[in-house]
Amino acid sequence: MSPRLRHLTTLENLPRATIERLLDRAESLRDACAHGTRKLDVLAGRTVLNLFFEPSTRTRTSFELAARRLGADVVNFDIGFSSTSKGEELFDTLHTLEAMHLDAIVVRHKQSGTPDELVRHAMSGVSVINAGDGNRAHPTQGLLDVLTIRQHRPDFENLSVVICGDIRHSRVARSDIQALTALGAGQIRLCGPAALMPASDEFPHCVRYDDFDKAIAGVDAVITLRLQKERMASTDLPDEAAYFTHFGLDPRRLGLAAKGCLVMHPGPINRGIEIASAVADGAQSRILEQVGNGVFVRMAVLNEVLAR
Ligand code: ASP
Repeated sequence: MSPRLRHLTTLENLPRATIERLLDRAESLRDACAHGTRKLDVLAGRTVLNLFFEPSTRTRTSFELAARRLGADVVNFDIGFSSTSKGEELFDTLHTLEAMHLDAIVVRHKQSGTPDELVRHAMSGVSVINAGDGNRAHPTQGLLDVLTIRQHRPDFENLSVVICGDIRHSRVARSDIQALTALGAGQIRLCGPAALMPASDEFPHCVRYDDFDKAIAGVDAVITLRLQKERMASTDLPDEAAYFTHFGLDPRRLGLAAKGCLVMHPGPINRGIEIASAVADGAQSRILEQVGNGVFVRMAVLNEVLAR
């Protein structure tokens, strides 16, 4: 059996068995919740801190729900009102909060690598979970995305997936590719304008396209991404109307994919830029399922790092 995780900062190099264990646990937690036991007490008496230095809707809410459903106490540290806006150093903030006796820190930060820095500086016994760092990793999103795919297309060996859009700035894309690769996905295709594609030596095993019509042909799942303007140099910024024409997911393009192709997006979605409303709200959209799975995946991860 693969060893239990103490922290989760990235999916990179995580063994397949660990990923599968987390997905299986997310499913059994979902079943436990579905059968009326909404609140479990496996983490009773433990405290989880949500430390978000960047905005978040889904991730923060679902980590909070996940911790509460497992019986933990939750503290949300609102950066807008905190001393960090008075210039307090990250590690001073960490030690101040730790003095209040925490068991886990869920952190989001615009700087790639911050969660690993916290692992190095955190008191022993405190687990760190990455809720998104810069463009590097968003491991729980990667897990919930593969869980959503697995529920509909469990045969990963014969699965083809296209990730389209601003891959260069996307921590979601990186974690998705790592999770899909670990699970043995048959083909991972990447598509986007040259300026928004990852460096040529990153992900050599993925197949690259600059034509979305070709990239989507026959795939079982399509993951579209937001233009992450906050991480772009202004010169990278594409014209939105032209972008939609070339890289937007509309009903015609979706028709080129395999029958019943899963439509996914990590949110927040920009209608009419990377995806048409008719597709985002259409019968093949799994976007809200992804959100629902996010709670169970985060329960599984908290349970993994915190269970005694
Ligand atoms: N919510 C995801 C993230 O935090 C995707 C996005 O923001 O576009 O990375």
